[in-house]
Parts: sequence; structure tokens; C-alpha cells
Amino acid sequence: MQSRQFQLTSYPEGLPSQDHFELVETELRSPGENEFLVQNEWLSVDPYMRGRMREGESYVKPFQIGEPMEGACVGKVVESRNPQFSVGDYVLGNQGWREAWLSDGAGVMKVDPNVVPLQAYLSILGMTGMTAYTGLLKIGELQEGDRVFVSAASGAVGSTVCQIAKLHGCFVVGSAGSKQKIDWLKEKAGIDAAFNYKDTGDVSARLKELSPDGIDLYYDNVGGDHLQAALDNLNNFGRIVSCGMISRYNDQTPQPGPDNLFKVITKRLRMQGFIVRDHDDIQDEFQKRMTEWIQAGKMHWEETVTTGLEKTPQAFIDLFHGSKMGKAIVKVRE
Ligand code: NDP
Repeated sequence: MQSRQFQLTSYPEGLPSQDHFELVETELRSPGENEFLVQNEWLSVDPYMRGRMREGESYVKPFQIGEPMEGACVGKVVESRNPQFSVGDYVLGNQGWREAWLSDGAGVMKVDPNVVPLQAYLSILGMTGMTAYTGLLKIGELQEGDRVFVSAASGAVGSTVCQIAKLHGCFVVGSAGSKQKIDWLKEKAGIDAAFNYKDTGDVSARLKELSPDGIDLYYDNVGGDHLQAALDNLNNFGRIVSCGMISRYNDQTPQPGPDNLFKVITKRLRMQGFIVRDHDDIQDEFQKRMTEWIQAGKMHWEETVTTGLEKTPQAFIDLFHGSKMGKAIVKVRE
């Protein structure tokens, strides 16, 4: 069968543009013994993909020029010669940015559309939910009653962090980039205070105003001025969970770090980064608890759905403009 897929044409300098991606038609053979064919229905676009668009050593190898892009996806098995996967099964894989793919089952997980809508396996019950859960509970060692600050708080990871912290009786302040996002955080996610960092000259002063007793834990999705503000406001023995630094991903020249980093010492802070894929040991625990929270109506999430495989690059680029609400997802066809 014919399948269209996106390939990278060159590594971007600064913000990626449409020219960095090319839609290519390929021929997929029929499944061999033990293989099955999947037709993608939903694709994920995520900020971490920007990190794979540059050469150099990292925790995951860069996307290769002229090779198909990868990313989380949910699709339906349409042909199978593998006894573990039947026609009609829905699966989660990492062969995104394309219409169809062949697999022998390695790294592929069956998903159940009766538990949550299929695309939620790319967000709240998928990688971004797991990132929030791991970062907050395992890395951040969240304590009942902590005062928590979350940046990019209305995004896929941030909005889940906010709600898990509220379920643990914490005081939560979030920052995001529009009034619509701030309203959602207060009304739907139920956090205690939220501010639009684009309208706030001094992030540190605004955080102090909203959380006068300081903060105990900062969940960092943004870096830059938000990290600087958190360092100013953290209480002694506070923790910083370094999840992401999206404000820096498109920098063309390295930027200096926060000039108040010495507060890590004076306040005896702990700052720890993590990569979600290192924490498979708590995947089952996450799935179980998150499913319970969802079924009890305790979790809210938003999706911005872009329809059409050909629009995938734009959905990805939009992550850096803040124009979407919640998780950015591509629906492969109408
Ligand atoms: P989001 O859904 O939060 O989307 C990104 C959001 O970041 C945008 O919507 C925008 O919202 C905000 N943003 C973009 N540019 C800036 C900027 N310059 N300053 C402040 N905010 C900005 O993405 P995810 O929830 O998927 O990811 C959140 C973070 O978590 C990212 O940094 C990502 O790299 C990281 N991550 C880390 C993982 C790990 O294993 N460590 C795994 C998954 C994600 P706004 O309108 O609020 O500006």
C-alpha cells in the first residue's frame, strides 16, 4: 500500500519552519510472518522533538535527514500475521508523522478505546501524563500541603501537574501565556492562583504576590525567567523538578543561566532533571492511578486537534507560539 510520511530536510537554526519538513510518498509491503500493518489515526507533536532536530549527543539520537520522523501515535491494525495483534486492535507506537507502518510488535502496546478516547493515550493517559506523574511524585517527592509553582501550567504536562498537586492538598500557582489559559487553570484545573507571564513584567514579583509564603516545589517546563523567579521564591530545602526549558529550545546562541543560581546553595535547594522514559518501573502504577482519577471525574484535560497529516509540521511549530490549549494532537484524516 501507499503511505505518506514526513521527513526532515535539514536541521533548523532557531524556530523550525515548513521548509524543514517534506511529505514523501512510500510503498509499504504486506506484513511478513509475525508482522502486522497499522493505519495511524492520531499523532502526537511534542516540544522534545525540537531537541532531536539537531546533531550531537543526547539521551536520544537525532532525527536523520531524509528518514521518516518518529513520534507517539495511535492506530488501528488493518492486516496481521502476528498472533498477538488482531485486525481491529488499536495500538500505541512510536511511528508517528506517517499514515501507516509495519511492526513485529516490539515497543507497541494495545490500547482500549473504552477506557478513554483513543487520543488520550497520547496525552493524559500517555507520555505527557506519565511525565507529570513521574516528575511531581517520584522526582519532586511531593508532600501533602506543599506550595507548588508550575510553568507552562495549562500545557499537556503542566495541566496534569497542577491537578495531581491539588489532589494532594497542595497550594498551586501556575503561569501561562493567555487569559483563556489562566481562566481554564482557575476554573477547570481548580488551582489557587494563576498569572499571564506575557502581561507580567517581573515574574518573580508576581509570584511573590500570589504566594507570599514562598514555594516548596517548582515544576519547571520553561527555564529562563521562570527558573530565575522560582529561585527567588523557593523556601529553604525546596525542590526544583527540571522537566523542560522550552523558552530556550530555539536559541541560536547559548543564553546565560539565571544570575541567582547561588540560591541553590544558600537555600539548600535540590534541583533534579529527569527523562520520563527512564521510569518505566512506575508505568503500571501511573496507568492505574490516572485511570482511577479520570473515571472519578477528578482530571480535566484539553486538546487542540489539527486535522490532516499534511498539517503536522504546523501543529509542531505552533507549540512554540503558545497558540494551542492543552495537548497538541494531529488527527490523520477527517
Ligand atoms: P505544552 O503542551 O506545555 O506546550 C508548550 C507550551 O509551552 C506552549 O503552549 C506555550 O504555552 C509554552 N511556551 C512556549 N514557548 C514559551 C516561552 N518562550 N516561555 C514560556 N512558555 C512558553 O508542552 P508539553 O506539556 O508537552 O511539554 C512541557 C515541557 O515538558 C516542555 O519543556 C517539554 O520539553 C517537557 N517535557 C519533558 C519530558 C521529560 O521527560 N523530561 C517529557 C515531556 C515533555 P504558553 O501559552 O503558556 O506560553
